[in-house]
Amino acid sequence: MPGFDRLAIIGMGLIGSSIARAARKAGCAGTIVAIDRDRGVIERVVELGIADTATTDAAQGVRDADCVILCVPVMANAALAALIGPHLAAGALVSDVGSVKGAVVRDVAPHLPEGVHFVPAHPVAGTEHSGPDAGFAELFVRRWSILTPPEGTDPAAIARIRRFWEALGANVEIMTPDHHDLVLAITSHVPHLIAYNIVGTAADMERVTQSEVIKFSAGGFRDFTRIAASDPTMWRDVFLTNREAVLEMLGRFNEDLLALQRMIRWGDGDGLHALFTRTRAIRRGIIASGQETAAPDFGRPHGALPPPPDEAQ
Ligand code: NAP
Repeated sequence: MPGFDRLAIIGMGLIGSSIARAARKAGCAGTIVAIDRDRGVIERVVELGIADTATTDAAQGVRDADCVILCVPVMANAALAALIGPHLAAGALVSDVGSVKGAVVRDVAPHLPEGVHFVPAHPVAGTEHSGPDAGFAELFVRRWSILTPPEGTDPAAIARIRRFWEALGANVEIMTPDHHDLVLAITSHVPHLIAYNIVGTAADMERVTQSEVIKFSAGGFRDFTRIAASDPTMWRDVFLTNREAVLEMLGRFNEDLLALQRMIRWGDGDGLHALFTRTRAIRRGIIASGQETAAPDFGRPHGALPPPPDEAQ
């Protein structure tokens, strides 16, 4: 069976609650134990019925689990690993979902006892919403889940967590933590930083009133606001723990931005056109790979035309 007898999930937010829902739907967890530090979250998990048992006590919750998945902000993992380490069952598999992998490997591994297998993972799937109500079982379908096992990890443990993610509908790829952090810096972390920056700049502008920013947001700004609404704690942790890769990619980004600035200044229309043609092809590639809808405007519904004047009377 591609699953576990007793799956403990720590952090019942968007990702943790989605794993609980998906594992239940796929039938790949005998018992699902939900763990969260917040009593309100645990009460909500019980109301939603997405786990078999729920507790705020992480040490007690992980006992007898054959798989424990940490679903908390990246910088919360170290303290959590130290807390649960002594209570893990022999032979248990510990994984996580953090958006940065080097820091997780560095912070978690030292707290895990001998005989416990550690296979970090990052499902590259999410939304701008947080908390147990935001999760849904289909979140990982046809999305990539990247495993970054430290050198020397038991291949059977890697195969087990791979089968688990595949049962949730995900495609699985394996890479080193450093490579993961570099790739995600340009595909996820820098785009989020740009969105946070552009939305912050617009919010600070004095010449354009905030109501105009909102009113005319469909011109492009609105798509940045979705990303810039992502969880502040999660993203603070991402930038503080993937500092080097993000700074490296930002350096390249700044050089390319300067080149664009020069093209605009010198009226280099051919240069601009050539770049925009290349970038359009990247979007087409993402759609062709099934990672995005081909529907115009992300498939947003458009209202009906108002009735002609004579019908309206
Ligand atoms: P979320 O919805 O905010 O849920 C995080 C959960 O962790 C909350 O229940 C939170 O409790 C708990 N938590 C926070 N700090 C904690 C601490 N110090 N100790 C114990 N529990 C703590 O966040 P999420 O979007 O599911 O993200 C969780 C992880 O998934 C992060 O590592 C993130 O990098 C990764 N990830 C996120 C996405 C995405 O798009 N959101 C995608 C892939 C991976 P409180 O409410 O009490 O703070």
